[in-house]
Amino acid sequence: MPTNASEQALWIALDAMPVAVSWATLADMKIVFMNRTFTEMFGYVVSDFPDIPAWTLKYPHPDERERTWGRWREYFDHPDNNEFLIRPIEVSVTCKDGTIKTVIHSGIILPQSGWALAIFIDITQRKRNELLLRQAEERARQSEALYRLLLEHSQEMVVLLDLNGNLQEVSPSAQKLIGWTPEEYLSLSLRHLIHRDDLVSIREAVHAIKRGMIAACYRGRIRHKDGGYRWVEALFQVYEDAVTKRPAGYTVTIHDITEQKRQEELLASMNRKLSEDATHDELTGLPNRRLFHDALDKETLFQLRTLSSTSLMMLDLDHFKQYNDTYGHLAGDEVLKQASAAIAGTLQREGDLAARFGGEEFVALLPSTTCAGAEKIANSILEAVRALNIPHEKNTAGIVTISIGVACWPAGSRLDAIELLKQADSALYRAKESGRDSYQTVQCHP
Ligand code: GH3
Ligand code: MG
Ligand code: MG
Repeated sequence: MPTNASEQALWIALDAMPVAVSWATLADMKIVFMNRTFTEMFGYVVSDFPDIPAWTLKYPHPDERERTWGRWREYFDHPDNNEFLIRPIEVSVTCKDGTIKTVIHSGIILPQSGWALAIFIDITQRKRNELLLRQAEERARQSEALYRLLLEHSQEMVVLLDLNGNLQEVSPSAQKLIGWTPEEYLSLSLRHLIHRDDLVSIREAVHAIKRGMIAACYRGRIRHKDGGYRWVEALFQVYEDAVTKRPAGYTVTIHDITEQKRQEELLASMNRKLSEDATHDELTGLPNRRLFHDALDKETLFQLRTLSSTSLMMLDLDHFKQYNDTYGHLAGDEVLKQASAAIAGTLQREGDLAARFGGEEFVALLPSTTCAGAEKIANSILEAVRALNIPHEKNTAGIVTISIGVACWPAGSRLDAIELLKQADSALYRAKESGRDSYQTVQCHP
C-alpha cells in the first residue's frame, strides 16, 4: 500500500504504463508493487515473491539468473551511488502459467528515496518474428541455391525475355548447350543467334504469345559459339510479375534436339528409300514394273475422259546376252544404266513414263500421243542409244543398239491395256526380226 500521496500518484502512473514495472524497497528488498502490465505479462502478483532475490534467482531462465542478479548486485558493491541504472539485458522469464517470455529487462535504483524499480519490455513476439524471418530467409536462400544447382546441372537452358523480346537473363547451363557464357549470350542479338531460315517461325511463336497464348513452341536452329548451329526445341511461356500479377515477360526453356533431329532425318530418308525401293528399280533408278502398271491403270481411266490416243513402247537391247558374255555382267549393268538414262532423257512430256520392265527390257508409256508422235520418239531413242557409242563387237552395228515395238491406241475407244502391251510386244518381235536397231509400229483397231 502507498504510504503517502506522492507515492500513491506514482503507483497510479506506473499502473497505466505499457511496460511491466515492479517496485521494491531497498531497505528490506521487498517487492511492494507490480503494475497491471507486469501481472498481464507474467501472471504474477506481488504476493508471489517475498523479495528481489527470490525473483531474480528463480524466474529468469536458469542460464541467465546469475547474470540478472549480478546486475542488481553491482549496486550493492557500490552503495555510495546516488542513482544506479540496471543496464538493459535480454532475458527469458518463466511466467506463472509455465510459458517462457523473452523480455528486455532494465531497472533504476534510487537510494535517496530507498526505492528500486525493475522494468520489463516483452519482445517475445518480435523475437518470434525475427526467427520466422531468419527461417524464411534461410529457406529462400536454400531454394535459390537449389534452383541454381538445378539450372546449372540441367541439360536445358532457360532464358528470360521482357515483353519486347529483349534478353534479360540466361541460365548458366547455356554454356553446355551453345558454348557462350550467359554474359556473352546477353550481348548478342536474336538475329545473330537464330538461323536465318528460322527467324519467321520464332517470330510466330513470339506473336502467338503476344496474342495471348499461354505457351508456344519453336523448333529451329540456334547458333553455337563454334560457328555451327544446334537444333533446339524452345518452349515460350508467359510469366507474371509477382506483385501486379500482370504479364512481365517470357521464359524460354530450350533443349538440344540435334541428335533427335538426326535420328528423325535418318528415319525419314530410310522411309523414302523404302518406298522408292518398292516403286523404283535399284540399278537404273527408273520406275519399276509395278509403278508402270499403276500408271497404265490410271491412263486407262484418264484416256476415256480425254478421248485422246495413247502410245506404248516395248524396248529391248540387241544381243545383250552376248554383250554380257563378251564384256562381263558388270559392264552389262553399266550399259543398262546408260541406256535407261538415254531412254528417260528422250521422253520430254509431263506424263510420259519410262520403266524397267525386267532384264534388259524397258517400257515407255506415252499418254495423249499419236502413232506419228510415238514413232518420232522411237527414232530419238534409237538415236540416243547409238549416241552412247558403247562398243559391242557381237552386234551388227558394232555398238550397243536397241529395238522398239510401238503400239498406238486410237482416241475414242476404251483403252485395253493388256491388248496394248501385247501389240507392243509383237511389234518389238517384228523389229528384232527385221534386223534390230529399229522400231516397228502397230496401230490397234479395237
Ligand atoms: P535380243 O537382241 O534378241 O534381245 O538378244 P538378247 O541377247 O538381248 O536377248 P535375250 O533376252 O536372250 O537376253 C537377255 C539378256 O540380258 C540375258 C541377260 O544376260 C541380260 N540381262 C538381263 N538382265 C540383266 C541385268 O540386270 N544385268 C545384266 N548385265 N544383264 C542382264
Ligand atoms: Mg530380252
Ligand atoms: Mg535383248
